[in-house]
Order: sequence, then structure tokens, then C-alpha cells
Amino acid sequence: MASQVRGRVGWIVELSGIDWPGNLTFMLFLAGCNFRCPYCQNGGIIPLDSGYEVTVGDVMMEVERSLKLIDALGVSGGEPTLQPRFVESLFEAAKKYGLQTFMNTNGSNPELLDHLFERELLDYVALDVKAPLRSDLYGKVIGEAIPGSVAVENLKRSMDVCRGYGRRFEARTTIVPGLTDNPEYVEMIAYVLKNYDCVYVLQQFSPYGDILDSRYRLLEPTPEDILRGLAEVASNTGLREVCIRYRGGMVRVT
Ligand code: SF4
Repeated sequence: MASQVRGRVGWIVELSGIDWPGNLTFMLFLAGCNFRCPYCQNGGIIPLDSGYEVTVGDVMMEVERSLKLIDALGVSGGEPTLQPRFVESLFEAAKKYGLQTFMNTNGSNPELLDHLFERELLDYVALDVKAPLRSDLYGKVIGEAIPGSVAVENLKRSMDVCRGYGRRFEARTTIVPGLTDNPEYVEMIAYVLKNYDCVYVLQQFSPYGDILDSRYRLLEPTPEDILRGLAEVASNTGLREVCIRYRGGMVRVT
């Protein structure tokens, strides 16, 4: 029975207005990730056996209590596509309640995206584009957890899946001082994104939360003027919609 499908969750945010801008979303942050980005703020839920176990039925009982307030159910992590059956069952249940569905993924499972779009279970995707799509650069930013070439190939295929279904998506790059704040990197990413229908969001790194690599706790948050400058670099490529996301919220720059 779909309601008995089990998954591991790090935590739940019953009402989020920031994960999917414009929507009030019941968000689950799923346990387990196949990347090891050193700046990750959710380090405690990277192991696959972290968090706690729930069933889809357990989650939907909580969703029911928030139904009057929310319009969507979303998954993030960790990397939600590592628990494909759980995510699919959650989205099936959400659709029965008339909710929209959202996923934030690192792009490593294009097959699941394809499957969910085909079944009309997924409405909107935020894809992490962590670095220029070059194996060496990508591998470094994801902590060499898997070969950079594999991560890049899967990400490209994920973007292609979105395009194949005519889906606009959000592409997100976290701007980390000394790691991804190079204007050339942002320019390289923007030139790739021009081939897709997407909004490009440059996210502020902040050294709070459960940072995976302790050295990154010593950094300052990415300054707002750096984010704005990099957004200009991205928009100068001709990319149409570029935003920054920082402590003050999300702002469209171009
Ligand atoms: S920031 Fe990297 S390591 Fe952390 S959850 Fe996202 S993909 Fe995984």
C-alpha cells in the first residue's frame, strides 16, 4: 500500500514560503546525499541512515493538518532522488489532495525526473548547478564524492529532461567565497543555462547550520554586493531572469 511506503527524513518544515517562491509549501528534507559539498549546511543528514523513518501515511496526516494553509508539498535534502519510491508515493498522495509538487535536487537522477514528469506527479524543479559543467571543477565542488564527469552528465540530462517536457525550472548556484565566487565560473554557467527555459538564482553562502567541512564555518556570508555583481555577469550573457537569494529574501536582479 502506497501509504505504508517508508522513507528517512531529516526534518519537516510545515509551512515554507522560501523553498518554492510564490508558494506556501509543506517541505520534507530527506536524509542521505551522494555529494559531499564542503559548504553543505545540512551535514547532519548526509548519511543515508541519518534522520528518522516515517511512512507516507504518517506524513500525510501532518499534511492534512496544514491543508488550509499550504498549496504545495516539496522535497529537498539531502538528495531526495535517493529515495525514489518514497518521493513518488508522497507526490501521488499530494496530488490526491490537489496539492502542487516541488523538488530541489542536485540533478543526479534524470530518470526519476523523467518518470515523475511523465506521470504528471511533479510540477516544479529547482536544480543545483553547483559549478561550471566541467568535470574537474564540478568534482571539486561536490567534494569528489562521485566523479565530476558523472555529476555533469547527469545534471545535463536532468536539464534536458525538463526541456523535453517543456518545463521551466530554477537553476541554483550557491556562491561560496573562494570556491564558486569566480565571475568566470558564473559566466560559464550562464552560457549553458541560456539553452534552457529557467530562472537563474545565485544563493548566498552563510556559515551557519551543520556545515560539512568545519573550515567553511570560518568564512563570512557572501556579501550582497558580490552576489549582485555576479548576477550582472550572468545577465550580461543575455540570460533573461537572474535573481539573488540572501538573508533578505529573493530579489530579481534582471
Ligand atoms: S549541498 Fe551538496 S552535500 Fe549538501 S545536500 Fe546539497 S548536494 Fe548534498
